[in-house]
Amino acid sequence: MIELEKLTKRYAGPSGSVEALRDVSLSVAPGEIFGVIGRSGAGKSTLIRCINLLERPTAGRVRVAGRDLTALSAAELRAARREIGMIFQHFNLLSSRDVFGNVALPLELRGESRAAIRDKVMPLLDLVGLSDRADRYPSQLSGGQKQRVGIARALATDPKVLLCDEATSALDPETTDQILELIRDIRDRLNLTVVLITHEMAVVKEIADRVAVMERGSVIEHGATYDVFTRPQHATTRSFVADLIGFNLPPALEKRLAAARLEGNSRLWRLLFTGPHADDPVIAELSRNLGLDLAILHGRIDEIQGRPFGVMVVQARGDDARLAAAKSYLASRKIQVEELNDVVTIDRAAV
Ligand code: ADP
Repeated sequence: MIELEKLTKRYAGPSGSVEALRDVSLSVAPGEIFGVIGRSGAGKSTLIRCINLLERPTAGRVRVAGRDLTALSAAELRAARREIGMIFQHFNLLSSRDVFGNVALPLELRGESRAAIRDKVMPLLDLVGLSDRADRYPSQLSGGQKQRVGIARALATDPKVLLCDEATSALDPETTDQILELIRDIRDRLNLTVVLITHEMAVVKEIADRVAVMERGSVIEHGATYDVFTRPQHATTRSFVADLIGFNLPPALEKRLAAARLEGNSRLWRLLFTGPHADDPVIAELSRNLGLDLAILHGRIDEIQGRPFGVMVVQARGDDARLAAAKSYLASRKIQVEELNDVVTIDRAAV
């Protein structure tokens, strides 16, 4: 549905040009929810604005629904943009128009009749749960309701693609969840393709099928959300996902471990549970069948895209043979084992 090919974008700045996008290539399949995550200044807004050509790339090609937008005339581009709806962090509603009037605006601009507009707007307000608020003004609405108006307005021209520019960043966590749920619901009902940019990994985890991680204008990593969360390749990605998946040790525990002297027959392991054996009773098997003493120091079990995922930090005590047998048992269950003893030793040396 969306193909970005070798996009580069340079802005002229006071001290020379800024390269906001460097050779970015991505493709998004129909019906997919695609997340783009990165810190402030990474190039996310520039990227999403290139998809509807609000920004024209300096080089590269943008194809939406098979059409090369970079090759269209101004009039053709206006028509093509109707297939691409967009919602914004600060909603961008007209304060002088009520809810109905805001959603009707793109249809008025297209010259639709009053009857046609009514027939289109009312079901959309129903879809976003605002049919009883049609005559309210933006100042009378909560943030979540304003974003619902934004979504209804974006859908008024029956787009194939919905672009979400930090759409939940101004909302509290509960409202964020409701809006994400609505976006997912709309995707399912209308088979929309959704691209969302965010600086919040929690948003990606909640809703994105696939994700691209951006840094300094480049995509440094992309893939299925589950894979990127459970096997982050790049240090930046690792730091994005660490807290959310319980990868980091709580600071107090880390201090305690750094201060403690681990005995020779005691190992500190971080276990990553993914894949088909994530639900297996491995801890019980390790202690019962392999005779290891296990202390669970930290852990989190969660779900990404409906698939289980867990992180656990354990202190395992046993002789060398038992520890080695435990490691091969874990490997047979496809559970990754990371030795933290070395990390803790290094930390201690640094202190
Ligand atoms: P993000 O959305 O990830 O915060 P942006 O796409 O807004 O990143 O910005 C990427 C880089 O491009 C930043 O260095 C930013 O300062 C620069 N930039 C963005 N828009 C403009 C502009 N209109 N003119 C000059 N520089 C810009």
